[in-house]
Order: sequence, then structure tokens, then C-alpha cells
Amino acid sequence: MAQVLMTGDRPSGKLHLGHYVGSLQNRVALQQQYESYIMIADVQALTDNFENPGLVEKSVYEIAAGYLSVGIDPSVATIYLQSQIPETTELTLYFMNLVTLSRLERNPTVKTELAQKNMEESIPVGFLCYPINQAADITILQAEVIPVGEDQIPMIEQTNEIVRKFNRLYGEGTLKECKVHLGKTGRLPGIDGKGKASKSLGNAIFLSDAPSEVREKVWDMFTDPNHVKISDPGQVEGNVVFTYLDAFHDDKDELTHLKQQYRKGGLGDVTIKTLLVKDLEQLLEPIRAKRATLTQEILRDVLRDGSQKARAKAQQTMKLVRNAMGLNYF
Ligand code: ATP
Ligand code: MG
Repeated sequence: MAQVLMTGDRPSGKLHLGHYVGSLQNRVALQQQYESYIMIADVQALTDNFENPGLVEKSVYEIAAGYLSVGIDPSVATIYLQSQIPETTELTLYFMNLVTLSRLERNPTVKTELAQKNMEESIPVGFLCYPINQAADITILQAEVIPVGEDQIPMIEQTNEIVRKFNRLYGEGTLKECKVHLGKTGRLPGIDGKGKASKSLGNAIFLSDAPSEVREKVWDMFTDPNHVKISDPGQVEGNVVFTYLDAFHDDKDELTHLKQQYRKGGLGDVTIKTLLVKDLEQLLEPIRAKRATLTQEILRDVLRDGSQKARAKAQQTMKLVRNAMGLNYF
């Protein structure tokens, strides 16, 4: 039987280019090879958007439309909603016994996100616990292959720690460990060059951006502040335009040549930005066209069918879990 692939996104906004290179591309490439489940993490999105449920609800459809537009095929991969699998909440509760507070506070992804969201002084318990919930999302489907960006590596480590502890205590082989499958660009920076491109930080190019927005954002990209005149030597490292060209420009020989020229002096920012806009348009135009064919009804059907299928699978795992823990009383 094919191994299970599982991954997902938080409906806290729209899909962006970081999602594309970090995870979406791999999902499309791998969907035929694995039994694939793609989750829209509405419960997790509420952990830091609990005051704004409208954003989460609206973003569910945004994200689902994004999936279909980039080529995830709902007849091959199961697209589902986290909130529709209540069994995950039960597994989360059992997992909570296996994790200490200090371990959660040490999780590097959680630490970064708390700082970004100014939540360090007053941490909602739900937010702090989301890595446990995420471990339950993965293991409840017995998933082994997890296509995600670099920021998720600590989450997968924490998941495997929980799985090992669970199996040691309640029965070896009950739950499966999983492996990260990184995208070709593990971490795409924001257009400001500070941190990763992120829905919540307002520094991303979205898959649904119009051509004029894409152009404006590329024009705003951080390059090299010391590269003032075209003839000045420029820096390639940390230059966001080159980082994006690394991710999106197919002709690698041409790119190597452009970098040499930029370092030496004689290549202007306008030239490299124009090239990047062209590359991005080539990628985004078919995505926009596919998206224009989708309706709310199509998306709702996909989510309903997918959620039913994922739930059936989760229920099978929960039988194993309850048996292993001695909770199968009747
Ligand atoms: P939020 O700001 O709400 O956390 P986000 O932009 O970080 O949103 P997520 O839904 O948290 O997006 O992440 C979904 C997936 O996309 C994860 O696998 C994550 O690793 C990947 N990802 C997100 N941002 C990037 C990025 N800039 N580069 C590479 N992968 C990314
Ligand atoms: Mg995130």
C-alpha cells in the first residue's frame, strides 16, 4: 500500500509564493505517488485569530481555490477541513500528557511566531499547544511523508518525539513516525528581506495578485542599498530579487552570468526586476486562469467529500489508539 502524505495550510489569509515553492509544488508532484491528504487547518488558524473567525471562514475558500488552481487534483488528493475531524481533538488530549510545558516553550517555530505576533507577554494556551494538535493531525492519518517548508522542521521533530513516547508507553507500532519532505526552496523570504514570506506579515506575493500588484511588489523588493548607480558593484547574497530568481528562473546558466555581472557592476536593478516579473507572470497567469473557473459550490463539494474521507481514516486510527490505551470498554 502507498505511504500516506499529509500536509496543510492555515486559513489565515491567501496562498503566496512561499507556499508554492515550500510545499505546493511538491504536493502536485507527489500526489499520484502517495495516498495524499491536504488539510486546511481552520482550528489551528483560530489559535491566533480567535477574535476574527470571519477571516478564517473566508480564507478556507481562498486556500481551497488556491489548491485547485495550482494543480492539486481533488479526485487524487483528499482536501479536507481540520475542524470536521473531531477525533483529532481527542487524540490531542491524550498527547497533552506526553509533552511538558517547557518543551513547548522551547519549540523554535513557536518562539519565533510568539515574537512576531507580540504574544510573548500573554500566551494563549491554545496557541502554545498547537504543535500537539498538529502532531495529532499528522498521526491520526498515519502519515509518513510531510511536504512542508523549513519553518516546520521543529514541528515534525516534536511530532516524532510524541509518537515515540506514545508507542513506548502504549504499544510499539501503534502510530507511525513521519519525515519532512522539503521543497526546492525551503524558505522564501518576504519582499522586505526580513524573515520568511508570510500571510500574517504582509510581505508576500500572493498567487492571486493581479499583474499590477506583482509588479509593484517586485519593484519594492529589497536589493542592495549600496548599489546606487548601475556601474556600482552589487551584492547578490541577501538580495531578494536574486533569491526569487534562484527560485523561479529556469535558465540557471543565464542566472549565474547575471550574478557575475551584478557583482562586477554594470547591471541595474530594473533589468533583474523586469526579468523576475516576467518569470512570475509565466507562473501565475495559468493559476489565475484556472482559478477563474472555480465556484463556491465546486469548492464546498470538494471540502465536504474530502472531510468525510479523512474522517473515516482518522476513525480507524482512533480504534487502534483506544485499544492500545485500554480505553475500549464496550
Ligand atoms: P501564517 O502567517 O498564518 O503562519 P504562513 O504564511 O506561515 O501563514 P502557513 O499556513 O503557516 O503559512 O504554512 C503553510 C505551509 O507553507 C507550511 O508547510 C510552511 O512551511 C510553508 N511555508 C510558509 N511560508 C513559507 C516560505 N516563506 N517559504 C517556504 N515555505 C513556506
Ligand atoms: Mg506559518
